[in-house]
Amino acid sequence: MREPVTAYVGLGANLGDAAGTLKEAIRQLGLVEGVSLASQSSLYRSAPVDSSGPDYINAVVQLQSQLTAPELLVCLHRIEQAAGRERPYRNAPRTLDLDILLYGDGHISSAVLTIPHPRMWQRAFVLLPLAEIAPQYTTQARLSHVLAQGVVKLR
Ligand code: AMP
Repeated sequence: MREPVTAYVGLGANLGDAAGTLKEAIRQLGLVEGVSLASQSSLYRSAPVDSSGPDYINAVVQLQSQLTAPELLVCLHRIEQAAGRERPYRNAPRTLDLDILLYGDGHISSAVLTIPHPRMWQRAFVLLPLAEIAPQYTTQARLSHVLAQGVVKLR
């Protein structure tokens, strides 16, 4: 049995019942064999960045994962598909987007996976929820770069 690794996953949705989709995705993540849900942020609302359509609902969860990062990515894609995710074109509006933000202290750069997630430090909708559950990663310097982006904590 592998030692569990602390991983952070970012969730976003901007079609249909986005908040409901996120809650169901978090529930599904907790049901994956080899994965347990350690903590979750509040939900946030953000305007689309490099995308279109309605505002996004976002959150970040902390997982303890006995899966490798590529194995976890396969599970995330399965949960995205179950939520009806289609990929008609890059950055299209989406019913559900799941990204691995951090995987322990791992650095991965492969054809299918880049960890830490390459755009996470530029995005308030990632950093604000991450600050709630893992403030050690979100220094004031990092937060100050993104605070002008319109992101609202929902509850
Ligand atoms: P997206 O359209 O945002 O879901 O991203 C599409 C692709 O990004 C996925 O199929 C992954 O192969 C790739 N990808 C690269 N790095 C990551 C990451 N850290 N988390 C999730 N997907 C990633």
